[in-house]
Parts: sequence; structure tokens; C-alpha cells
Amino acid sequence: MLDNNHRTINYLRLSVTDRCNLRCIYCMPEEGISFTPHSEILSYEEILHFVGLCTQKGIRKVRLTGGEPLVRKGFIGFLRRLCKIEGLDEISLTTNGVLLKTFASDIKNCGICRINVSLDSLKPERFFRITGRDYFDRVSQGLEEAERVGFDPIKINVVAIKGVNDDEILDFARLTLKKPYHVRFIELMPVGDKNMWSADSFISTKEILKRIETIGALQSIGHNPLDGPAERYALDGAKGEIGFIGALSNHFCENCNRLRLTADGQLRGCLFSDKETDIKTPLRGGRGDADLLNLVEHTILNKPKDHGFVKSGPRKCTRPMNRIGG
Ligand code: SAM
Repeated sequence: MLDNNHRTINYLRLSVTDRCNLRCIYCMPEEGISFTPHSEILSYEEILHFVGLCTQKGIRKVRLTGGEPLVRKGFIGFLRRLCKIEGLDEISLTTNGVLLKTFASDIKNCGICRINVSLDSLKPERFFRITGRDYFDRVSQGLEEAERVGFDPIKINVVAIKGVNDDEILDFARLTLKKPYHVRFIELMPVGDKNMWSADSFISTKEILKRIETIGALQSIGHNPLDGPAERYALDGAKGEIGFIGALSNHFCENCNRLRLTADGQLRGCLFSDKETDIKTPLRGGRGDADLLNLVEHTILNKPKDHGFVKSGPRKCTRPMNRIGG
């Protein structure tokens, strides 16, 4: 379905939990985070019903996220059922990879072929400093297992932060020469009031790109309609790709094709806008499908034109990333 700014909205990011087994410094710090009680989280049944309705409004792609989706009990059974919903062309998953070794094969057997693994450092000690957990080896083993069972592509999401891991930008870029990974550099976003965003820690897509060009020319790769805002490139002779998600740079919003459903049943048109449509109350209150479809349509039509940061400069939105679904 088209929104009021002529964008085709075909992508739903679906958060199944706000809990996580990591505590990344820019996302979910050790202290001061509260979790939603289980009774307030949509049940798998409720999510499946809602996704089925969304396909009637043109949603073709779903990405599962969180918190960390693999920590929610019964996730694989849910995934199996999600994959049977007609009308979805693509279902993918974003994970921190900590539990991937255990679940990669089950996820693949559900029919999922695409997976994103968030990994901000290739150095175990630094990984620990960023995530608060000594799980680098688990993530490496998870990636190996994901490769072994045949995920294609495997995307590696890297949040580049000045003074924290920006000295590894070239290492991540070089990884695509050896491995068929799609490395995606994500700009640090000002989400949640406890997040560490500051102008000093921010490094733009443009600067990352410039640094990578010091090791080789980047060839642009065509865009497919379900890609969303990522700009895709490859180094000459690379097995993998390099992508950029310039959330704060101005090219992001005009190509945005997303809605987000939070684990507690709020539908959002924009990651950075605190405007939400309550889906849970009508869903639990027994309102009919026609009403729910109207709410989806309302959210699409009222999707903000842009996040407004270009004009106003970054401001922090209230919900933390783990409670929106990154
Ligand atoms: N646990 C899963 C994972 O690690 O991919 C899914 C949820 S996580 C919130 C999704 C993505 O959001 C991760 O790649 C994470 O690095 C990213 N993220 C979280 N907070 C962010 C921020 N402030 N700026 C940019 N990216 C952020």
C-alpha cells in the first residue's frame, strides 16, 4: 500500500520480545532498563493473526527482531507457523548470534534463508566491552553454523561508533573479500533516553564510505524493491557486499518502506517518532478484522514523511531500541 508520500509500504519489522542476552552500550545498558511484563507482550497467536491481516495491506516482508528474538520461549514453533502465512515473499531474522549455533539449523528448516547478525567488533575483548558479555566465541560459532547450514546471504550489522570501533571499519570491509557476508554499516541513532548518542560518537555513512575507498573502489549494486533504505556496494573481487544504512543522513526516509510492531503491540510508522497506534487493545478486546485493518491503514497513511533530524538535528526518542525493535 502507498502512504501519503508515495512510498510503498511493504515491510514489517516485528519485535517478539524486549529482552536481550547482551547489554550493548548504545542500546540497552546494564542499569535502568525495565522490561515489559509477559502478559503485556503479544502472544504468538496474536502476532500471527495480525501479520496475516497486514499481508492484506501489502506487507510482503517481515523481519523478526527484539530485544533478542532467540531468547523468547517457543520461538522456533512460532517461526514455523509464520512461514506458512500466505502472501509473505520474505521472512528474515535479526539476531545478536549468541544462540545461533543452537538454532541456526532449526531456523533454516523453517524456510528462512536470510539472516542478519549484529556484530560490532571482531576483537573478543572489545566485543565484551561493547556488549557487557564475554560471548564473542559464541557469536563466531553461530556465524560458522549459519554458513554451514546455508544461510544466504548472511548480513553482518555493524554500528560504527567513533572512538569505540571505527578503527575496525576496514577490517569489516576486508571481511567481504574472504567471506560472502553482506556487511552493513549502521549509523549510530539517537534512540532511547539512555543511549550514548552524541555528535562526537557519530560517524556518518559518507565518512565510512570514504575510509573504505582507501582500500579499493566500491561498485554500486542495484536496489531491489524489498531492500529498504540500505545502499549497497561491493569491493572489486569481493565475495560479499558492503551496505550502508544512513539513518541520520538525508537519503534514508524517502525510501523507507517500513512499519514496526513493538512486542507490546504498538504499531509505529517511524523508528524515531513516538507516535504509535495501539493494536493490542483492539486485538484483545475482540474488535473485528475490519477495524484492525483500518488501524494498519491509518498508520501507513500517517507514516511521518521523515524523521526530522535533518532540519531539527538529532533528538532522543523516548522508547529504548529494545522496546521498539531495532
Ligand atoms: N538482538 C537483535 C540483534 O542484535 O540484531 C535484534 C535487536 S537489535 C536492537 C537490532 C539492531 O539495532 C542491532 O543491529 C543493533 O546494533 C541496532 N541498534 C540498537 N541500538 C542502536 C542505536 N542506538 N543506533 C544504531 N543501531 C542500534
